[in-house]
Amino acid sequence: MLGLMQDWPLLCHRIIEHAAEVHGTQEVVTRSVEGPIHRTNYRQIRDRALKVSQRLDRDGIKLGDRVATIAWNTWRHLEAWYGIMGIGAICHTVNPRLFPEQIAWIINHAEDRVVMTDLTFIPILEKIADKLPTVERYIVFTDKAHMPQTTLKNAVAYEDWIAEVDGNFKWKTFDENTAAAMCYTSGTTGDPKGVLYSHRSNVLHALMANNGDSLGANAADTMLPVVPLFHANSWGIAFSAPSMGTKLVFPGAKLDGASVYELLDTEKVTHTAGVPTVWLMLLNHMAANKLTLPHLRMVVCGGSAMPRSMIQSFLDLGVAVRHAWGMTEMSPIGTLAALKPPFAELKGEARLDILQTQGYPPFGVQMKITDDAGKDLPWDGKTFGRLKVSGPAVSKAYFRLDAEILDEDGYFDTGDVATIDAHGYMRITDRSKDVIKSGGEWISSIDLENLAVGHPAVAEAAVIGVYHPKWDERPLLIIQLKQGQSATREDILKFMDGKIAKWWMPDDVAFVDGIPHTATGKILKTALRDQFKAYSFPNAAA
Ligand code: AMP
Repeated sequence: MLGLMQDWPLLCHRIIEHAAEVHGTQEVVTRSVEGPIHRTNYRQIRDRALKVSQRLDRDGIKLGDRVATIAWNTWRHLEAWYGIMGIGAICHTVNPRLFPEQIAWIINHAEDRVVMTDLTFIPILEKIADKLPTVERYIVFTDKAHMPQTTLKNAVAYEDWIAEVDGNFKWKTFDENTAAAMCYTSGTTGDPKGVLYSHRSNVLHALMANNGDSLGANAADTMLPVVPLFHANSWGIAFSAPSMGTKLVFPGAKLDGASVYELLDTEKVTHTAGVPTVWLMLLNHMAANKLTLPHLRMVVCGGSAMPRSMIQSFLDLGVAVRHAWGMTEMSPIGTLAALKPPFAELKGEARLDILQTQGYPPFGVQMKITDDAGKDLPWDGKTFGRLKVSGPAVSKAYFRLDAEILDEDGYFDTGDVATIDAHGYMRITDRSKDVIKSGGEWISSIDLENLAVGHPAVAEAAVIGVYHPKWDERPLLIIQLKQGQSATREDILKFMDGKIAKWWMPDDVAFVDGIPHTATGKILKTALRDQFKAYSFPNAAA
């Protein structure tokens, strides 16, 4: 027997429609790419998103067609998202920090028909445009006054382009499983892989993100996503914030500590989300200028492991942190480290121990850890295993890639290695390809990095496994010192000694001027392995 409830497809544009009807005057504030602060609200965003839909429809963009955006977090980008999805076209967010050849590869693989972009990225696109045969036109997120001369095909200023229609248009209706958006993973090896979100998965994911123990923002709050719309589906914020009526503050092109601080302060932001690198810049700026943020209540941090010292710095400022783990293939939320009973009462180091885990999953994400043969491992907080996940917002396949990515129980292997404790708190110990295999045992490179970065002179730390004749692999600690600071190999090792098992101690420390990063801000270990290819440990003969 079927239930007698309405058939109400979970479509992304219902979210902006709800925001316009119920939270229409709620503000969306942007530091515009052109410079000035711009203010709009959810009603106007909805009205202009409808114009985007109408204009795309007039250009012949149809259900399933791909429209790329290569753009910063701005109100225009948000309008474009909803406008593209509102006619059943697919909003393909492209990460501008990729190499131009990768951007071209991705656009060609997706066969994008239209590219919407910011002034910032015109020069990159002009260089690769002749290699993009499927792109029919470029729309630049600006107005006539700021529109430059460009060789891009059929280029038009966004404001002129939407001014050609009246907005008298209705969202299209289609099955909730229709593709809504796509985002390529910035794989460190092999070609990027296209993750294809559906309307249903995005709406369900927004509901997961809205849970108080997830992103934690409500209608009375203000959220500043430093995490870009082009990074892993904006961590769902472009859907969850409007669905709750949370005020949005977009940082545009300026993500340095001073600029982010200024917006957090002037817009009285209560919640913000981004990767550790961004918070490092913010904390450095605040410390150097003795600044505080009395309105900020919550920093959501994910994308890479959040160092303990960073958690402590925010707590010292009176700001709660929510360490989160996820991945593009998971829309992206996987787990968040909220303090649930009985841990909420913990104090000091014991509290930090829980805050530093990657957290537990919201309803809608199931996890397991297995050994290499696929056998389930216990949730005892100690046993490491391959972390596998399932849920309605987890990928089951990649776009145009003929490969099985689920196990026989329908779980996706995240490529991460983790422990899970009896309360469901998960701790990432490594990427499966980065874990250091020493004498048949595993050493977590992330644990060593987190520890080393707690040394006051260390700006960033990376650990790689290097060949060792006796142990197979041993950890090499690579350090970038803070500007103007000094520390020796012995200082660093002394700082770490006693805080980890003896056999986890790095065999050597190398100092570098800079640690390479991927386009999404993660340490690029492949480049480091390459750089240290010829390295051998001083004790290698042991
Ligand atoms: P991406 O799809 O680019 O977001 O990358 C996802 C990967 O980033 C995950 O599989 C993890 O390896 C890593 N990652 C994300 N969040 C965290 C975190 N909080 N701690 C450690 N690694 C993380």
